[in-house]
Amino acid sequence: MAAGRQEVIEWLGDLQRIYTENRELLTALDSAIGDADHGINMDRGFAAVKAEVDTNPPADLRSLFQSVAMVLIRTVGGAAGPLYGTFFLRASAACTGKEVLGAGDAVAVFRAGIEGIQQRGKAEAGDKTMLDTFLPALSAMQEALDAGGGLRAVLEAGTAAAESGMLSTIPMQARKGRASYLGARSVGHQDPGATSAFLLIRAAADRWA
Ligand code: ADP
Ligand code: MG
Repeated sequence: MAAGRQEVIEWLGDLQRIYTENRELLTALDSAIGDADHGINMDRGFAAVKAEVDTNPPADLRSLFQSVAMVLIRTVGGAAGPLYGTFFLRASAACTGKEVLGAGDAVAVFRAGIEGIQQRGKAEAGDKTMLDTFLPALSAMQEALDAGGGLRAVLEAGTAAAESGMLSTIPMQARKGRASYLGARSVGHQDPGATSAFLLIRAAADRWA
């Protein structure tokens, strides 16, 4: 199985619904250790992505991911806007010349996007950010690929690791972003960005494979 332009467009539509459905959850998580806007930011961003893709459907994967990046950078704001924008911008470059994404391509796309987030935000594993979801997910995807797994196996392994990564942020003390201002008081709360990142990967597993 492989994911083409149509599957990616459907995934973006799913994300719009998912971030609307999880708007209160993400905002509640951000109200504990941030400024209570993460759900609002993600919902606004992906509603704008859906509207843009419906109005101006890009012809190929590269321009599709690039269009998503531009809309997110313009509409999400906060820390998450530029970080998710960078994810999609790097993902776009990794799609150059590709019409469909097989297992290896999907790992390459996630690797490019996640490394972009890391370069942009300068966070590391254990800092209590979206990277605590993305980095273990990427390792698990690569392992599943190396073990000969296809797209479904790769994305399912990524989703399982993303979920434990998200939960691993609960006992962490934040060292990056707004939550780091709280010091030890950030312990005991699940990171909002780690949660939106899990939702993004799980939705890809449901739609791409
Ligand atoms: P803001 O913190 O500006 O209000 P959001 O609430 O939309 O932005 O997003 C907060 C999320 O952004 C955090 O939960 C965290 O996962 C993520 N984040 C913040 N700073 C960084 C960083 N430097 N690297 C990676 N992720 C980060
Ligand atoms: Mg916030």
